[in-house]
Amino acid sequence: MTTTAVTDETERALLARTPTGLYIDGRWTASENGSRFEVVDPSNESVLASVADAQPGDGRRALAAAHSAQPSWAGTPPRVRAEILRQAFELVTIRADDLALLMTLEMGKPLAEAHGEVAYGAEFLRWFGEEAPRISGRYSIAPDGANRLLVTKRPVGPCLFITPWNFPLAMATRKIAPAVAAGCTMVLKPAELTPLTALLLAEILQDAGLPAGVLNVIPTTRAAEVTGPLIKDGRLRKLSFTGSTAVGQRLIADSADQVLRVSMELGGNAPFIVFEDADLDAAVDGALAAKLRNGGEACVAANRFLVHRRVAPEFARRLTERMAGVTVGRGTDPATRLGPLINEAAVSKVSGLVEGAVASGATLALGGRPVDGAGYFFPPTVLTDVPAGAAILDEEIFGPVAPLVAFDTEDEAVRLANATPFGLVCFVYTRDLDRGLRLSERLETGMLGLNTGVVSNPAAPFGGVKHSGLGREGGREGIEEYLETCYVGFADPFARDGIWFTSET
Ligand code: ADP
Repeated sequence: MTTTAVTDETERALLARTPTGLYIDGRWTASENGSRFEVVDPSNESVLASVADAQPGDGRRALAAAHSAQPSWAGTPPRVRAEILRQAFELVTIRADDLALLMTLEMGKPLAEAHGEVAYGAEFLRWFGEEAPRISGRYSIAPDGANRLLVTKRPVGPCLFITPWNFPLAMATRKIAPAVAAGCTMVLKPAELTPLTALLLAEILQDAGLPAGVLNVIPTTRAAEVTGPLIKDGRLRKLSFTGSTAVGQRLIADSADQVLRVSMELGGNAPFIVFEDADLDAAVDGALAAKLRNGGEACVAANRFLVHRRVAPEFARRLTERMAGVTVGRGTDPATRLGPLINEAAVSKVSGLVEGAVASGATLALGGRPVDGAGYFFPPTVLTDVPAGAAILDEEIFGPVAPLVAFDTEDEAVRLANATPFGLVCFVYTRDLDRGLRLSERLETGMLGLNTGVVSNPAAPFGGVKHSGLGREGGREGIEEYLETCYVGFADPFARDGIWFTSET
């Protein structure tokens, strides 16, 4: 892992060897009308690269390639698919410096965090490589003792993946790896703000031996016009999306036409609940991780800090002190702990939420205004005594802002935590095990972090309830999203002609 500052020359050399075309049917191509778009460094607003801008015809080409590769890919032995994933894991690990730097350049996260994402993203390749040979069905005797039941699994078929910019590598491998393991082919449309990492990943998967047509990557600035017709095309069988709830809702509606299987990882509004009996040092450590990891630009970021009134002032004091000590800067600087937000729109949104909270009576304890100069920087910010009804408690902040609310009882904490249409993750700090278990049943959530500020793990099922989504990614559950169940009923192998018929009637 790189620990010294990265030189301009290293950056230029990496960008020069990163592919910038469309990857369709195993070949790098231009878009059908030759158009390209620019990728910008959010830390200084400079142009990093220009990338082919897929048009609707390119989308159709990509789906055609995935569709024609599907039968032979589905027939590939599981061990072969597993070995490709294992090789991809090795190559991603070998190229960790390149992938991490690319993510820092196009997305802004500090290099150390980008390395963390490489390790996390690579682990999906390893995990699902290990799952591929274990796909199995079952054989059983029907309850009446007569017929035999055979249940098998088969790949769903061609998939469309639409991924966000906040985790450019891991959001891609979390979908690609189980699809490869299950024997599905795919078209990936990465976020237009961060296409470079996905393109380098495609090159790595090609080097790992993934056959032509199995993975196709089509960056585009025309997301709806390129993916819309694919979703309505009968050759597609599944859509997996990670992004905002508003876009996800629209994609679910569009998927009804072809009755597509859908997996949706949508927005969150995670409560971070600190009880009066919590280990406050551990809670502040967890809060920092849950709030500042990825600059707060994560659907699992702590969005609301609900703190028992008895410990609220002390928790606020310690959190503010720690957040004040965080170094803001370009992600390539080894001292940086917090990079820029993704773009100007993100800065305006976060600023607006902070201003709205202050206008409604919250106290600004730290930060609060965008950093002047080039780049989309917003400083660590703490708001205390945020009143109910402030928009910042209802909307996904996606920035380094911690709004604090005091509560008096467990019932009140549960009521506040559940008072949102989202249900992705909750964080709870308490030393009371009974309370922890109670909350695991009372909180409306897909995931719960108990005395930890980080829950994401490739071996665990990631996903939410309510408006946070459908389906799970990772864990043993993750591969099921890419498998269909097929049932074969057999006649009773012991029956002789006529005998069973007579005995049943
Ligand atoms: P975010 O706010 O995190 O950018 P979005 O939901 O807007 O979340 O974007 C997530 C992904 O969805 C990106 O790849 C984006 O290009 C894509 N996207 C946005 N709108 C649409 C749409 N109407 N149809 C298909 N994809 C879309």
